[in-house]
Amino acid sequence: EVDWFSLASILFLLMFAPLIVYYFIMSCDQYQCSLIDPVIDLLMGNEHLSDIWNKTPTLTYRAAGIYTLWVAFQVVLYVCIPDFCHKFLPGYVGGVQEGAITPAGVVNKYEINGLQAWIITHVLWFANAYYFHCFSPTIIFDNWIPLLWCANILGYAVSTFAMIKGYFFPTNAKDCKFTGNFFYDYMMGIEFNPRIGKWFDFKLFFNGRPGIVAWTLINLSYAAKQQELYGQVTNSMILVNVLQGIYVLDFFWNEAWYLKTIDICHDHFGWYLGWGDCVWLPYLYTLQGLYLVYHPVQLCTANAIGILMLGLIGYYIFRMTNHQKDLFRRTNGNCKIWGKKPEYIECSYMSVDGTKYYSKLMTSGFWGWARHFNYTGDLMGSLAYCLTCGFDHILPYFYIVYMTILLTHRCIRDEHRCFSKYGKDWKHYTSEVPYRLIPGVF
Ligand code: NDP
Repeated sequence: EVDWFSLASILFLLMFAPLIVYYFIMSCDQYQCSLIDPVIDLLMGNEHLSDIWNKTPTLTYRAAGIYTLWVAFQVVLYVCIPDFCHKFLPGYVGGVQEGAITPAGVVNKYEINGLQAWIITHVLWFANAYYFHCFSPTIIFDNWIPLLWCANILGYAVSTFAMIKGYFFPTNAKDCKFTGNFFYDYMMGIEFNPRIGKWFDFKLFFNGRPGIVAWTLINLSYAAKQQELYGQVTNSMILVNVLQGIYVLDFFWNEAWYLKTIDICHDHFGWYLGWGDCVWLPYLYTLQGLYLVYHPVQLCTANAIGILMLGLIGYYIFRMTNHQKDLFRRTNGNCKIWGKKPEYIECSYMSVDGTKYYSKLMTSGFWGWARHFNYTGDLMGSLAYCLTCGFDHILPYFYIVYMTILLTHRCIRDEHRCFSKYGKDWKHYTSEVPYRLIPGVF
């Protein structure tokens, strides 16, 4: 059943999320990244909405061509080139891997080749920038708003297609979820793992590519723009490229592990993932780099080192916390966490067909400090990206505000799910590990 609060939030997001993205990007394009100036201009009558709209670049054939080629290229890399990275990179898990068991008892197979797609794309990008010169490395920045229209078209098309597919030709009918509320189903999705053919998995493709492969390219394009405009790339821009680059590389290095995360394991595929991956992620996760094109901040060495340390420590916590749980679950607790046997709580749950299963919740390592310390590490990294931009404008801080809301909401959503799944065992666990994100605080 869909409660009123969920429905109101969904309607709000469906109506306003595309406007929020537009507002941020337009503010940079027309108001030097000030979020307040457009409002002041409108309230003072200096500008009308139509003036702002008329100054906004429209969809162009060039942008449509670039975007179509980009997505088609990523589809080819995903579908046509089986992974070869796992054959020569020690420790990397790629190639055909199994996902988690779905509520209907299906175990999907995935071709994990995101790292390879990322490497090929970036090798070609640098080859073009330094040798072939077929297009300028500023191409993404130069077409940023026309590309926004293309990303929206794809985001809406894929979400609508996923909805129709869920009704008429689902990949696995037993894993479909119909709430009876059109808006909820459109937003949160009907099908669990929509696919075309054996290998084209919507969630894996849209979650990682084109958005996350593009993330580092978008940052590189911003750095190239700084070089073109000011004759140099600032240390803040390098920091953003490096810290976000580590995050993106980590994502692809651990793509097989992501098959076990909430996005792939529990969320259905609808507008939230489809449009979010096409538009929200590439446009709003890259705001710091965009801001630095308009405001090239050169940090003093102490600040730059401080931000780098915050970002790296955040990343370490994020990775190690995730690694501890992964190791614990893979070995069924037969491993060492911080040199000791892990402590845990035995728990059980029932599947839809009434079968009883057993599981374990770890209460030592980072999982003994807080129930979602991985999110805390993620938030520290996010704050580091924002701090590179200094304190003149609030726009670059959108990311940390958004991530705090996203991860707190995700934490509550996950705990609600875990409570429904494990019942009294979950209560026992929360009494052993009482804090969610920050020990002693929340
Ligand atoms: P988690 O990796 O924290 O997984 C939560 C699940 O882990 C729970 O549902 C439960 O699943 C299991 N679990 C919970 N507590 C324990 C425990 N003590 N011991 C063992 N298992 C436990 O959540 P996500 O999938 O959301 O996050 C994965 C990573 O991705 C995070 O680091 C997050 O920061 C990052 N992320 C980043 C986003 C971004 O936009 N940048 C967005 C979303 C996530 P079960 O049913 O198996 O028991």
